[in-house]
Amino acid sequence: MAQSLKSILTDDLVSFIRATNVHYQLSPETLIQQTLEHKQGVLNDTGALVVSTGEFTGRSPKDRFMVIDSLTKESIHWNQFNIPIEEKYFDILYRKMCAYLQHKPLWIRDCIACAQPEYALPICVVNETPWANLFCYNMFIRPDEKNIVTNSVSRWTVIQAPGFFANPETDGTRQHNFSIINFSKKIILIGGTAYTGEIKKGVFTVLNYQLPLHHGILSMHCSANTGADDDTAIFFGLSGTGKTTLSTDAERKLIGDDEHGWTNDGIFNFEGGCYAKCIDLTAEKEPGIFKAIKKGALLENVSFFQDSNRVDYASSRVTENSRVSYPIDFIDNIAVPSQGGIPENIFFLTCDATGVFPPIASLTPQQAMYYFISGYTAKIAGTEAGIVEPQSTFSACFGAPFLPLHPFQYAKMLGEKIKKHDTKVWLINTGWTGGPYGIGKRIPLTFTRAMIKAALNGKLDHIETDKHPLFNFAIPKTCPDVPAEILNPKNTWDDKTRYDQKAKYLAAEFNANFEKYRSGTAAEVADAGPKNLTTD
Ligand code: ATP
Ligand code: MN
Repeated sequence: MAQSLKSILTDDLVSFIRATNVHYQLSPETLIQQTLEHKQGVLNDTGALVVSTGEFTGRSPKDRFMVIDSLTKESIHWNQFNIPIEEKYFDILYRKMCAYLQHKPLWIRDCIACAQPEYALPICVVNETPWANLFCYNMFIRPDEKNIVTNSVSRWTVIQAPGFFANPETDGTRQHNFSIINFSKKIILIGGTAYTGEIKKGVFTVLNYQLPLHHGILSMHCSANTGADDDTAIFFGLSGTGKTTLSTDAERKLIGDDEHGWTNDGIFNFEGGCYAKCIDLTAEKEPGIFKAIKKGALLENVSFFQDSNRVDYASSRVTENSRVSYPIDFIDNIAVPSQGGIPENIFFLTCDATGVFPPIASLTPQQAMYYFISGYTAKIAGTEAGIVEPQSTFSACFGAPFLPLHPFQYAKMLGEKIKKHDTKVWLINTGWTGGPYGIGKRIPLTFTRAMIKAALNGKLDHIETDKHPLFNFAIPKTCPDVPAEILNPKNTWDDKTRYDQKAKYLAAEFNANFEKYRSGTAAEVADAGPKNLTTD
C-alpha cells in the first residue's frame, strides 16, 4: 500500500482504526487472488469468482435504520422502511466496529457514485473481505488514480463488517445484523450480514435523500438504455420484475442497471456496474448477462453441478436470489459515459402473479401517476409445489425501501417531467398470463422483449386499443411479433368468470392501498385508478 491510512480515512476513523494490514485500491486480479488464497471463494469454469454470502442471501429491510437527529427528524419520512435509531446507538456501534476491525486486514477502496461529474459522490468503502471490495469495484464508478477524492466534505464512508454482530440489548438494533445510515456524519455501518446488496442499496438510499433535496434531481429505481436515435427509455420495477433483464438489449446501449437520476437535461446512472439475478439464467434467453459471467465477475450464492465448477443456474438450493455483479463494460453495447437524454418512453414493470394485467398497456399521464404511487407487483408466497396464493405488494415509486423522503416528493417530480416532455408511459406485466400463478404461466421473455421493441419503435402509437373495463388503461389490439390473442388477458384465461372475479379482487386491493395517498393526491390522479367495482 502506497498511501498511509491517514491520507485515506477521515481523521476520526483513523483514530479508531489502527489496522496495520490495509489493502487499498487493489486491482480486481489481486482481490480475486486473495479471495482464493483465503479460501473465501473459488473460480467457476468461465473464470468468475464464486462466493457465498452466508446467513444472509438478500437484504434485510427490517434491520435498516437511519439515525434520527436534528437533520433527519423532520426531513425523513419515518415508516416501516425508514426506521429511526438514536445517535447514541450509532456512536456505540461505530466504536465497537472500529475496535473489532482494529487488528484485522482491511480492504479499502475509494469509488464514486453518479456518472454526471457535477453530482459525483465520493465514497470510501471499508470491507472485511477482499471479495466484498471486488463487489464495490464492480458496482460503483471506478475513478482514475488522479481523480480519487479523499478530502471532500461530501465524501461518504461505508464500513462493512459482516463478522461483527450487534448486541440488540445494548446497541438499539433488532437483532445481530444491521445497516445504519447516518446522514449527518455521512457514514453507513453494515454489520452481521455479508449480503453485498446492502452496500449498493445503502448508497442508493443516500442518493435518494440528497439528490432531490439538495439538487432538485429526481432519483429513480430504474434501469435505462438508449436506441440508435439516442432515444432514452427507462424501466421502473421492484425486485425481480425485469429491470436488469430487459434493459440488457443487444440493440440498445445500456445506460444503467438499477439506479438513475433525472435532471433538466437528461438522465445519468448512479452506478458503474450491474447486479443481475442468476436464477434460471441461460445463454439463449439472456445472452448479454450470460457472457458477462467471466473473469472479474462475482457470483454469489450459486451452486455447481456435482463434482464440477460448472454453475447450475436452475438450482435454488442456496437461494432463489443468486446474483452476479460485473462492471458495466462487461456488456457489449453500453453508453459511455452512462448518461442519456430526456426519456421518451417509461416502462413500469410489474410481475403480476394474478394474471389480471395485460402484457402491455399504455397509460395516460394521470394513470402513470396513479400506478407510480401504487408501485404494484406480486410476491410468490413460497416456492413449494402446489398452489400457493401470491401476495400483492404495493411499494410506492417502485422502490419504497430505498426512499427516505415521502413518496409524493418523487411522484410530483416525475409527474411534472412526464407532462413537460410528453413522455410515453407503458405498463408491462412480466408476470403471469392464462391464469394466476399455479394455473397460468409466466409471459415468455421473447414476447415481452417484442412488445417493448414495438413500443420503442413507435409501432404501437396508432394501433387500435381496448380499454380495460376495470383498470381503464389502453390495451393494444395487435403488436408486431406477438400473437394478438395474448394481448387481452381475459382471452388467455379458460375461465372468464374467474378472470372477472380476480380482476375485481385486484382492483379492490389497489383501491385499499391508495386510500393512504388519496387525501394528498390531485383528484385527477386519484380518479385514474380502477373503477366500476360495484355493479348495480
Ligand atoms: P432487482 O431490482 O432485484 O435487481 P430486476 O428488476 O433487475 O430486480 P431481473 O434481475 O431482471 O429483475 O429479474 C427478472 C427475472 O425474471 C429474470 O430472472 C428473468 O429471466 C425472469 N423473467 C421471466 N420471464 C420474464 C419476462 N417476461 N420479462 C422479464 N423477466 C422475465
Ligand atoms: Mn436488477
